Parts: sequence; structure tokens; C-alpha cells
Amino acid sequence: MTAPKFTRHQVNSYRTPDEVTRVTNALRAVGRKVVLVPTMGALHAGHRELLRRAKRLPNTVVAASIFVNPLQFGEGEDFEAYPRPLEHDLEVLADAGAELAFVPTADDLYGPNAAVTLDPGPLGAELEGASRPGHFAGVLTVVAKLFNIIRPEYAFFGEKDYQQLVLLRKMVADLNFATRVVGVPTVRESDGLALSSRNVYLSDAERECAPALSRALTAGAYRGRFGAQAVLDAARSTLVAVPEIKIDYLELRGTDLGPAPVDGEARLLIAARLGSTRLIDNVGVLLGAAVEHGPETPLASADAGTEDAGA
Ligand code: AMP
Repeated sequence: MTAPKFTRHQVNSYRTPDEVTRVTNALRAVGRKVVLVPTMGALHAGHRELLRRAKRLPNTVVAASIFVNPLQFGEGEDFEAYPRPLEHDLEVLADAGAELAFVPTADDLYGPNAAVTLDPGPLGAELEGASRPGHFAGVLTVVAKLFNIIRPEYAFFGEKDYQQLVLLRKMVADLNFATRVVGVPTVRESDGLALSSRNVYLSDAERECAPALSRALTAGAYRGRFGAQAVLDAARSTLVAVPEIKIDYLELRGTDLGPAPVDGEARLLIAARLGSTRLIDNVGVLLGAAVEHGPETPLASADAGTEDAGA
């Protein structure tokens, strides 16, 4: 069967899984590797950074999926309200040199009878999963489907969604996916706020308060040499000054999201509500004696990226 049309150096947009599978099979057959950047659209500079790094891999076709995945939204969440500026997104993809956009509808991807989903295991019920039951089952299921449809050599994900990144790495390891997951450091506004498609929900007043999240994480990270409690105390005391921010969780964990070590690399994670908007952020922290031997500042570890794919 012939593959659908694909023209180099422009964004080729496809809607059905079958089309994308045939195109990516044909690309592989002529020696091009496919790199996938899964997104929910409303693309911003964070997504652009993922695309830019993907583009740096030699001899690859950068593919992005744009799909607001109903399976990862809970009851009462913002599935309907989630921004969907498709035309803008396709321009961003073109600008970034992506050559393939997979833009399915929910029906294209799941059909009317889909019933099997992936179980993320115990970590799926912690942190984000405690507030958003079923969220990670939805994320892993859609990413597993994208991996099977596109069979990318690499897939790029942001550290902004750190727990998602950890769970996706675990899915790939535990279920023997052939795709390599690459983590990309969080892109921030100049005042520290992590870029997110949900930032558009913030009122002007809320937007002014929002950088307190990253300020708190930074304050915590700089206390790393004094241990876990000092890190958490510093972060929490920064947030006390901003009563508009309601903390959902503020936790220090190991880099695999198990218990934090006494000495060594850890991750400080926060979720908080600002008005009706839920924001998440996280940062790398060096704890205890590791500070003496590690990077010059605790935050340097947050910028190191989580896997080098030559990207
Ligand atoms: P989303 O469209 O929000 O599902 O995000 C798609 C991908 O972009 C995910 O891998 C996110 O972790 C990543 N991402 C979102 N925001 C940022 C950011 N500020 N910096 C880096 N990556 C991000």
C-alpha cells in the first residue's frame, strides 16, 4: 500500500493513525529516523525548546502530536476550556522545522470501544496522581499509543512535568519500548514562572503572584547543603508571604521520586492553586555533603538535562 503524500521541509499534517504509521514506515525505509514531541497544543517557548532539541539530531524527521487527551483529564478539570489554537500551533511547528504533525480527533485515536489502559503502578497515585486520579493512566496510555503508531527513535518530554517524565521512563523500561525518552529542562519566563499552556488562565493579579512558586523552589534548592528539612522550610516560608497561593503539595523526593537521599541529587516538587488555576513546578536540589562535590550552585543541576541524546 502506498504511503500518503509527504513533502520535505514543510509540515505534513495527518489525522488518522493509519496515515501516520504508513508515512513514518516509509520515512524509516529511506533511512530517516523519526523523533516525536508529544503535545496538547497551545504551543509556547517550552514546546519550542523540545522541538529545537529534537531538530538537532542528525538525519531525523521531527514529528509533533497535537492532541488534548480526554483520558488524562478528570471530572471537573479543564478539558473543554483547554486552549486549541491549531493554526498558530502549525505555524510554530513550521518555524521549528518540524515536518510531521499528527493531529487526531479523540475518535480517530480511541474509537468508540477502547477499554484497555495502562496502569502506572504505585507512583501514579502519588503527588500529581493523588490530586488527579487516573491522570497518569491516561498519559501513559496515549503515549504508548503514539509510540506504537509512530515508532519514534526518540521522544522528547519536558522536566516541567517531572513525574510524567519519570513515569514515561519507567513505562519504556518496564514494557520494553524501543523509543528512547529524552528530558528537557524547564523553560521559564524572565521572572521565573515556568511556561505552561495554562498560564493564560491567570488574571493579571494572579500572574503577579505566580513567580512565587519558582522563587520558593529556588530558595529551597539553595538550602540543600543543610538537608531536606531546611530545603522544605525555606520553600514554605517563601510561600507563606503569598496567601493567594494554596499549596497542594510541596515535597522533596529522590530523582526517581522515591525517598530523598541524605546526600546527593533530589527533586523539589510543588503543586499549588492560584484562584482556579492549578500550577506545578519542580527543580533539582543537591543535598548534604554532595553540595561540596557537585555543581557550583544547587540550581546548576536543574539545568543539566536528564539525558543527553546529542541534543
Ligand atoms: P503539554 O502540551 O503541556 O502536554 O506539554 C507537552 C510537552 O512539553 C511535555 O513534555 C511538557 O513537559 C513539555 N513542556 C511544557 N511546558 C514546558 C516548559 N515550560 N519547559 C519545558 N518543557 C515543557
